[in-house]
Amino acid sequence: MMLEQTNYKALRRDLDPDRVRLNVPLAPYTTFRIGGPADLFFEAMSTDDVVRAVLHARAHGVPHFLLGLGANILVGDHGFRGLVIRNRTSRIDVFPEAHRIRAESGVIMYPDLIEAGVGHRLSGLEHYVGIPSTVGGALWQNLHFLSPPPERERTMLIEEFVHEADLLTEEGLVKSVGVDYFEFGYDESILHRRQDIVLRVTFQLEPADTARMREVMESNLAWRSEHHPPLDTEPSVGSIFKKVKGLGAGRLIDACGLRGKRIGGAEVSPRHANIIINRSNATAADVRALIAHVQGAVVRETGYQLEPEISFVGEF
Ligand SMILES: Cc1cc2nc3c(=O)[nH]c(=O)nc-3n(C[C@H](O)[C@H](O)[C@H](O)COP(=O)(O)OP(=O)(O)OC[C@H]3O[C@@H](n4cnc5c(N)ncnc54)[C@H](O)[C@@H]3O)c2cc1C
Repeated sequence: MMLEQTNYKALRRDLDPDRVRLNVPLAPYTTFRIGGPADLFFEAMSTDDVVRAVLHARAHGVPHFLLGLGANILVGDHGFRGLVIRNRTSRIDVFPEAHRIRAESGVIMYPDLIEAGVGHRLSGLEHYVGIPSTVGGALWQNLHFLSPPPERERTMLIEEFVHEADLLTEEGLVKSVGVDYFEFGYDESILHRRQDIVLRVTFQLEPADTARMREVMESNLAWRSEHHPPLDTEPSVGSIFKKVKGLGAGRLIDACGLRGKRIGGAEVSPRHANIIINRSNATAADVRALIAHVQGAVVRETGYQLEPEISFVGEF
């Protein structure tokens, strides 16, 4: 404990004592609105801030976590022992002739990045309208959504639009990599297995008609509001469990009659069985208990073992 305190002090001194806050509740920085405090909390406003924060934390042996919009994580009720770096980098550069857009990893997909694309008649990213995500979070999980109407027959993964990215690698080097580096899969990338940090991403887009892009956006937003609980009144992190091939986790949960099942303040969304909502002051313990309850019921009644797709961060 003493060593940790000493390391915290040295890290604050080296990073910036005025900008490293102590004991900051994380719930407001997640879309679930759940989670205890971070011992240390730093808002990175530039790529240089991100690099410095990560390198100083590594040098002082302080555990650290890079936070985007907190839309795919459950933070424990006892919070995070170490430094949370909230990525607020926001620079976007458009290269119209090459049909490319480069964005810092803290750029918010919607509206910021998607509107930049549409504004320059560059198509691709508009498919992800309405999904809460930073650019870094989108690469971590290989952001996905259904292809445009009327087909909606295939899943469009963000890897289709990634040209290259700048990383701060696990080894502490800043380098550019192509799309293959990420070993993307469904809900999967190399970022799950290596401590690399995405700093900037260049997207390769297609010239397109603005009206068609707006149509796709409207249709996707309508689909989302019909199928998903509204985030402002029913906080969530989107789908909780990984896809079950050919079946869908939601259908299995439905088959067990679990829509509306509640533990404490956490509830299986009555609108979408694979989403858990924070109905009223849910704790992380409530959500974990509900996840375990759903897994137990589904394996007993259908034989399928559901696996969470979200990350669990900090102490529970
Ligand atoms: C209402 C709702 C609907 C959703 N719908 C969809 C959907 O349709 N499709 C879909 O794919 N997802 C969906 N999601 C899930 C979520 O939006 C995505 O997973 C999103 O990409 C998370 O981004 P984030 O910035 O919030 O990442 P966070 O949750 O903040 O972080 C997630 C992980 O990424 C890591 N990370 C973040 N930035 C970086 C970086 N720069 N470098 C390295 N690692 C980094 C974090 O450390 C963490 O491990 C939905 C979520 C919600 C709440």
